[in-house]
Amino acid sequence: MSYVDNVLQRVIKLNPAEPEFHQAVKEVLESLEPVIERHPEYEQLGLLERLTEPERQVIFRVPWVDDNGNVQVNRGFRVQFNSAIGPYKGGLRFHPSVNLGIIKFLAFEQIFKNSLTGLPIGGGKGGSDFDPKGKSDGEIMRFCQSFITELYRHIGADTDVPAGDIGVGAREIGYMYGQYKRIRNAYEGVLTGKGLTYGGSLVRKEATGYGLVYFVDEMIKAKGKSFEGSTVVVSGSGNVAIYAVEKAQALGAKVVAMSDSGGYIYDPSGIRLDTIKLIKEVQRKRIYEYTEYHPEAEYHDSFTGIWNIPCDIALPCATQNELDKQAALTLVSNGCFAVGEGANMPSTPEAVEVFLNNGILFSPGKASNAGGVAVSALEMSQNSMRYSWSFEEVDAKLKDIMVNIYRRASEAAREYGHEGNLVVGANIAGFMKVADAMMAQGIV
Ligand code: NDP
Repeated sequence: MSYVDNVLQRVIKLNPAEPEFHQAVKEVLESLEPVIERHPEYEQLGLLERLTEPERQVIFRVPWVDDNGNVQVNRGFRVQFNSAIGPYKGGLRFHPSVNLGIIKFLAFEQIFKNSLTGLPIGGGKGGSDFDPKGKSDGEIMRFCQSFITELYRHIGADTDVPAGDIGVGAREIGYMYGQYKRIRNAYEGVLTGKGLTYGGSLVRKEATGYGLVYFVDEMIKAKGKSFEGSTVVVSGSGNVAIYAVEKAQALGAKVVAMSDSGGYIYDPSGIRLDTIKLIKEVQRKRIYEYTEYHPEAEYHDSFTGIWNIPCDIALPCATQNELDKQAALTLVSNGCFAVGEGANMPSTPEAVEVFLNNGILFSPGKASNAGGVAVSALEMSQNSMRYSWSFEEVDAKLKDIMVNIYRRASEAAREYGHEGNLVVGANIAGFMKVADAMMAQGIV
């Protein structure tokens, strides 16, 4: 059995019932085969065994009191996966589906994503099975305060710097930051995605969505295509989706469909983003409300049906495994030429195979959604300097970073004999820097 297969077996055995984690590790390790062949020393020094074992995993109780005076108990997680190239960095997800395996898959992906940005940040991720939907502001605040009352002892500006993810936006970061500062009596950049009045960075809110479009633009430009005049479908209607739509529209694309976990809207004349922002960012309501404002649009109550809408470019920006083989085949037969992942691992392995076999330009999330964490790292720099850059400065740096990630991934793919395969390229390019750092630091 090859070294990679051995390590995969070990991961499955040691981490039972964590299918998303197995999926993420398998995808990365299999694409590292050509690298492992060139570097037998990695096997001698157990590099892959160490890389697939988190440095630290914290699971904790999060008790809080709801508006009716009832005690609620949730479970909190923080997986500090790898700190070879910098302090742990990665978001917090609040969603009822959260469990240890999901957080581990996200933290593992984060190692390579963070490395790809070229910035000094290690990989981590956390969250809770708490469901923010339908909760009052007071309940959200009490939950966030309880969550950080345990987590604060494990994080710090030079140790581990969490950010947002699904269910965690500016409001939640604000409540967590306030409680952290109170407990620690320190005004430090321990969380990113903060509000602009207390240490946040311009462009952080837009960063993942804008970054995704910058990346995809670079990828399709290489084949003589552009967003101008293209029809685009974007799944999700959260932070990533909204700002991906904003930038795609700014580049001249027509976005015709968006979704939430209840279903999708199809507006053939082009989605009106101000209505989506009102419904999702201000009112925190469901996407079907869109048809109240624009009766000519259609609402369909199947979340995955969105992939039946014909488009040139598809941007999955909701959640893991939301786009399966059948959806991929439909996209291909409808003439879609590019798929850019905004979410983490939204395409199943079978869907990715369909894209690669049919010559679709495909960017994996760990490369094309790295803009969020990149601007988070820029927020950390600004906090350390006690200084703020302008919107234009941060936006220009973000664009530069995304173009460089595209180049690094493309070059690695070419160097290892997989020209045009950005899945392999991103995994190898992200891995090499972490591997070099781990080898230099001894057996730790
Ligand atoms: P938000 O919570 O802002 O939005 C998530 C969107 O996806 C919502 O429309 C939500 O619908 C939908 N969604 C969530 N879970 C499911 C599910 N199980 N089934 C169907 N739809 C679902 O999250 P973000 O936009 O921040 O994150 C979206 C994706 O992007 C995630 O994969 C995240 O890990 C990834 N990502 C986020 C980054 C960031 O900076 N925020 C950075 C890099 C990656 P509903 O409201 O109905 O739940």
